[in-house]
Amino acid sequence: MKYDYLIVGSGLFGSVFAHEAKKRGKTCLVIEKRNHVGGNVYCENVDGINVHKYGAHIFHTNDKKIWDYVNSFVEFNRYTNSPIANYKGELYNLPFNMNTFYQLWGVKTPEEAKQKIQEQVKKLNINKPKNLEEQAISLVGEDIYNKLIKGYTEKQWGRKATELPAFIINRLPVRFTFDNNYFNDKYQGIPIGGYNTLIDKLLEGIEIKTDIDYFKDQEKWNSLAEKVVFTGKIDEFYDYKYGKLEYRSLKFEHSRLEQENYQGNAVVNYTEREIPYTRIIEHKHFEFGKQSHTVITKEYPQEWSLGKEPYYPINNDKNKEVYNSYKAESNNEEKVIFGGRLAEYKYYDMHQVIASALSRVKKEFND
Ligand code: FAD
Repeated sequence: MKYDYLIVGSGLFGSVFAHEAKKRGKTCLVIEKRNHVGGNVYCENVDGINVHKYGAHIFHTNDKKIWDYVNSFVEFNRYTNSPIANYKGELYNLPFNMNTFYQLWGVKTPEEAKQKIQEQVKKLNINKPKNLEEQAISLVGEDIYNKLIKGYTEKQWGRKATELPAFIINRLPVRFTFDNNYFNDKYQGIPIGGYNTLIDKLLEGIEIKTDIDYFKDQEKWNSLAEKVVFTGKIDEFYDYKYGKLEYRSLKFEHSRLEQENYQGNAVVNYTEREIPYTRIIEHKHFEFGKQSHTVITKEYPQEWSLGKEPYYPINNDKNKEVYNSYKAESNNEEKVIFGGRLAEYKYYDMHQVIASALSRVKKEFND
């Protein structure tokens, strides 16, 4: 055998595994279906602006070990995610906090804001919410729901809020401080130089072949290595024999504009139903860019079908059952390791997929 590991997919899971295996003296070959490495964190450089091709990515974690791990490859900037919501031309700060409440109602103290929310929640007096709409109103009242939640959620799921189950929203974080930081995590930022720098450092010195679909010649690729680390779709691995796992997809419309600053913020959510996209990303603001041009991306949620990019797993009973059948079969594989968001049919944030790869490495090398 030429290699110890054949790694299918060069996203964060595959790249971390390859890096750690190499560090332990193992030989790896990484194959990647796309024409670039990095999976969904890949950025395309447009005259100095790193464009997040597969959706805006903001690194955040509470786990110091993971933060130190990524910082050992690349330094991070001080970017803090503070999205703006645009509802019919009115602008609001997110997440819901004292700034939002001031903008909505002119209230200036936490007491006044709490009272306003409680009044609205009480007015409709919903005891057992039957759907997402009732659930949201019972948590934050009508104004926040109608202006900031309803349209956005309906676009995201492609269904009316009254037709969506209540459990999708367990709780809605409401902050009674003037704090626009979207995340509660201790550590947050964007790699200086972009995510490609992180991936390139992880894959340094490792053999890589792009534009290779593992399934086009599975036998050949398997014959090259002792073991396979598979980070593609688990249902595809088993030729969909238990059925297809479903996803929600996204369409991205990127445009370069010859102006310095389009919207003054990296992320602006469009929360009204009538505008078909959910948000506009202006990529340069992730890195405090000073270029004379800018690049924006409109994000349109989409139904998924085979051939479209699978973005978000749909966690309903049907998909859980199908996944469990594949999972049971994969447990019997001695020469294949399944990992990452597609092979585990699971939404992972970046810090979580890195933690998952590191823990798989630990198990594999008994360290
Ligand atoms: P991927 O990055 O998908 O890598 C899998 C790779 O395998 C791909 O490159 C694919 O082309 C390749 N592959 C698949 N099949 C084959 C095959 N047959 N042959 C060869 N190669 C194959 N996380 C955050 O922490 N913060 C964020 O702000 C954030 N924003 C996100 C926004 C969006 C829209 C989405 C969808 C995700 C976001 N994430 C975010 C999550 C983040 O993208 C994932 O945690 C991460 O990309 C998962 O890495 P992975 O290696 O599991 O999968």
